[in-house]
Formats: sequence, C-alpha cells, structure tokens
Amino acid sequence: MQVTETNTAIREETARVFFAIWPDAAAQRRLAELAERLEAVCDGRKVRAENIHLTLVFLGEVSIDRLDALCQAANEVQGTGVRAFNFAVEEVSYWKHNRIAYAGTAKAPQGLLDLVDALQSALSAAGFAFDRQASYIPHITLVRRARCPALPELAGPVVWPVHEWVLVKSEQANGRSVYLPIGRWSLV
Ligand code: ATP
Ligand code: MG
Repeated sequence: MQVTETNTAIREETARVFFAIWPDAAAQRRLAELAERLEAVCDGRKVRAENIHLTLVFLGEVSIDRLDALCQAANEVQGTGVRAFNFAVEEVSYWKHNRIAYAGTAKAPQGLLDLVDALQSALSAAGFAFDRQASYIPHITLVRRARCPALPELAGPVVWPVHEWVLVKSEQANGRSVYLPIGRWSLV
C-alpha cells in the first residue's frame, strides 16, 4: 500500500480552552432558576447549571504543547496580585444577532476589568492569539437559540464573591459541551 503525504502528516493535537469564573453554589442555583424561566419565555436551550459561567478570555484551539505556557501566563497574572471582587448579576438581556439570552451587570466591577486586562496582556506577551474585543462585555449565557418576546424581571441582584478564576477545556460529548477545569488561580 502506498502511504500518501496526507496519511503520514502528524496532526497537531489541540484543546479548546478559555479562562472563566464560575458562580458559587448559591449563585449557580439562582442563575439556573433564571435560565429555566428564560427558557420558558424564549424557547431555545438553557445552559445546564454546572456549565453556567462568565468567560474572561476565549482562546479557542491551543496546541496541547502550549498549555504549560498558558498556565505560566496565568501564574504571572496571579503574581501581580489582582484583587478579589464581587460580581453582581443585575439584568437579563438578549442578543438577537446570535440568539443568546444572558445575565449581565449594570457596571462591570473594576477587579474584573483589571483581571481581563492583565490576562490579555500576559497572553499577548506569551504569543497567544485571541479575540481582543474593543470593549469587554461581561455576560453569562443562559439560553441559546433563544427568541425572546419579553424578558423576565430579576427579583433582585445575584451577587457572589469572586476569589479565583479557572482555565477550562471545552469538549463535546453526545452533542453537549462538557467543561473540564484544567487550572485554577487565586485573587487576593
Ligand atoms: P456550544 O458552542 O457547544 O454551544 P459553548 O459556546 O458553551 O457551547 P464553547 O464554544 O467551547 O462552548 O465556548 C466556551 C466559552 O467561550 C463560552 O462562554 C462561549 O460563549 C465563549 N466563546 C466561544 N467562542 C468565542 C469567541 N469566538 N469569542 C469570545 N468568546 C467565545
Ligand atoms: Mg460556542
């Protein structure tokens, strides 16, 4: 049998990864309830409770050989002593263009903006490519493929103290996204 160039080419192994913060148990429960209410109004598909998160930086496919360097960049950010902060979900919104219903905040806490900034700088310096949007809009996706004729009111803000951030590997299993934390760093 003749072995072709394509057959012998070594395909680089990658992981789909992103930095994020996760709500604590109480906030997760309330956000999951909110996702359920939103799904009832907007159809679509709610995000499962354990998957509810706030993305800080999405890297996409990264060579597994580069994951150590990625963790090293996060270590550097941790070393600068970024301050812990409270995240407060205060509003429910809907993006028509991508049909995402999400929980957001009226004003992003400075600690969050500092953390995102520090991560973006450290990642750029380490040679990682990612979408650097003009402005970072913190959002917690609750329902995908949504069509929202109206949005439910929040009974009150959902607030949780953010002490750490994680690096997460996103995988597909049986048509669902499964998130596996592969690194964890602390705020001070
Ligand atoms: P699925 O794509 O299966 O519906 P998902 O969007 O949660 O699930 P990923 O696509 O792996 O899973 O995305 C992980 C996180 O990164 C999510 O918070 C997602 O909103 C965010 N994300 C994905 N793609 C981008 C992108 N191009 N820019 C910024 N954030 C992104
Ligand atoms: Mg996605």
